[in-house]
Amino acid sequence: MDPHFFDRLNALQNYQNQHANQANLEQLEANRSELAALRRQLAEEANKPQCPHCGGPSEQGFDRCKNCGQEIIWYGHFVGKPGQEQHLAVAMQQYQIAEQEKQRQRAENQKWQEQRRIERNKSKSWNSLLTLLFWYVGVPLLIGVILLILKLVEGF
Ligand SMILES: [Zn+2]
Repeated sequence: MDPHFFDRLNALQNYQNQHANQANLEQLEANRSELAALRRQLAEEANKPQCPHCGGPSEQGFDRCKNCGQEIIWYGHFVGKPGQEQHLAVAMQQYQIAEQEKQRQRAENQKWQEQRRIERNKSKSWNSLLTLLFWYVGVPLLIGVILLILKLVEGF
């Protein structure tokens, strides 16, 4: 019998195990990305407007629910049953007002931040001017005064 028979057998088994592990790992990765895609899809569905009949996600632009087949009407992205036109119009109007308000606040916030930025820059340049004054006027003046005092003291 080949003395290396068992060594070879072991090597073969190791090789097969490694292959199986690799395959498992790849399957795991595939499952994971599939799961992520499903989650994304679910989130997208959940964000869709709900059918007023069955509560299922409904696709904008269709006049029948794809889940229950009942008739639906649209005002912008608001969905309702036929006969709810006025209700939807009011909802849409309120939504638009809220959106305008949001936009106005955003613009105001931007303006405020811009103003703060300008003020910060102003105070920064004021600070550097003070620093310059200190080093080029304050310090020489101080030295001058000290020298003057020393001279006066010597004079006595
Ligand atoms: Zn439905």
